Amino acid sequence: MPNNIKKGIAASKGYAIGHVFIKADKEVEIVEKAISNIEEEKARFETAVEDSRKQLIKIKEKAEKDLGADKAAVFESHIMLLDDPEFAGQAKSMIEDKKINAEKALSDVIDNFMTIFAGIEDEYIKERVADIKDVGGRILNNLTGNGSGDLSDIEKGTIVVANDLTPSDTAQLDKDKVVAFLTNIGGRTSHSAIMARTLEIPAIVGLKDIVSSVKNGDTVIVDGIEGEAIINPDEKTLSEYTARKEEFEKKQEELKKLISIETTTKAGKRVEVCGNIGKAKDVEAVLANGGDGVGLFRTEFLYMDRESMPTEDEQFEAYKHVVEKMGKRPVVIRTLDIGGDKKLPYLPLPEEMNPFLGFRAIRLCLGRKDIFKVQLRALLRASVYGNLKIMFPMISSLEEFLEAKEVLKECMNELTKEGKSFNENLETGIMVEIPAAAVNSEELAKHVDFFSIGTNDLIQYTLAADRMNEKVSYLYNPMHPAVLKLIKMTIESAHKEGKWCGMCGEMAGDEKAIPTLVEYGLDEFSMSASSILTAKELIMKA
Ligand code: PEP
Ligand code: MG
Repeated sequence: MPNNIKKGIAASKGYAIGHVFIKADKEVEIVEKAISNIEEEKARFETAVEDSRKQLIKIKEKAEKDLGADKAAVFESHIMLLDDPEFAGQAKSMIEDKKINAEKALSDVIDNFMTIFAGIEDEYIKERVADIKDVGGRILNNLTGNGSGDLSDIEKGTIVVANDLTPSDTAQLDKDKVVAFLTNIGGRTSHSAIMARTLEIPAIVGLKDIVSSVKNGDTVIVDGIEGEAIINPDEKTLSEYTARKEEFEKKQEELKKLISIETTTKAGKRVEVCGNIGKAKDVEAVLANGGDGVGLFRTEFLYMDRESMPTEDEQFEAYKHVVEKMGKRPVVIRTLDIGGDKKLPYLPLPEEMNPFLGFRAIRLCLGRKDIFKVQLRALLRASVYGNLKIMFPMISSLEEFLEAKEVLKECMNELTKEGKSFNENLETGIMVEIPAAAVNSEELAKHVDFFSIGTNDLIQYTLAADRMNEKVSYLYNPMHPAVLKLIKMTIESAHKEGKWCGMCGEMAGDEKAIPTLVEYGLDEFSMSASSILTAKELIMKA
């Protein structure tokens, strides 16, 4: 393979051609170098300062628009620091006096400030020190070509390149500007990959060394079908991929004829093809792609990208919006699944050796009923506006489900006392994503209204292969006979009790898996909105 082509894991299909923006996520390593041309080094430093100024002006303008003048003021003081003789000025003198590289000079100036102010408990000083670190880090990133790191600071047609993107990074991506993203680490079902599919932008993860292989501004072709990134392609390759991109978009257009068609298998079984969403506004894409409902609302995204928990009323509005938009169609809302790779800045949790096996999802909610009840109350209140169903994640035993139902009952009693209405008969179900739940599905099926198989986790737990780790992605196989047995068993257990069984893990939209899932009798397939139409076509052929 030519060395300008990098192969990774195709995480979200489609093609994109754009310019690189590197999102820095780690500290730059500073090495002292003796320099011979002082003027050249000073000019390099000044260019980095000017780049920082341009970035800060843009950020300030955006902050003024989005957050108000108050919040934007901090960026004005950052811009002023760039002209401060005690700061940027000192770094320049140090280049001259010590004949050292700009990075080392600047990092010494930052260290000096840290040493002088260390231990001073004054709020104002603390903030100034934080400003110096922040602005200093920005200049250093510009000096080393490590990128500015601000996802708010990007142009149209950008391909974001990062070591990894957290779910809240992806939640911040502006679809009008970001045409694709590429990461060093991650697997097909890491949450950044899932977000890419929700946003309907091509993405490749697990590229291992993409960050060090590109520079800001490089042109890259992203082939989200084959999982290949082509760096600074020649004209011939560019026109070849432009044609492929057009062809792909044409096929997507053609699939639109299936939008209002009911999905029936060859054997005549009517199945539902639904969409997974992370934010209330994502329902638009589900409807635009002909989704029969929402099979999974990952509510944790409502909790991200903010400084405190969403209130009961805020959550109520979001859930009400979704169920109202979907009309009679079912909307399965999953209760908070935080922990694992999904963290909240305002909810500090202890570091865990194995976060995916730790205090997450229903475990956290049952341990923090104060948080859980706010969400359940909001869900119940929204249930009168449409076809809302509640789903509990990470259930490993019947006791957990029954305890969650107890808390729900408590919330119902409270609302009744307060004279607030809710749907008393709303369905409650569980995600089957822990092998124990699948193995024990016969018992669980007697108590729940439905199952939804969460294959993203079920596969990683069954095969002991971390869904985030590209090094073991070869083991992460949805078609492994052990995984298939668990799925079949779960569907049969549900049907035996007259309950329905869906699947909201990524496997539901996997072209290779769909015929087998149809054969097993899966009732509902839920996936990223962008996969719905292709899945409908395949299910009808199966
Ligand atoms: C799953 O585990 O399959 C699932 C749908 O949930 P998440 O990807 O959010 O863990
Ligand atoms: Mg899961």
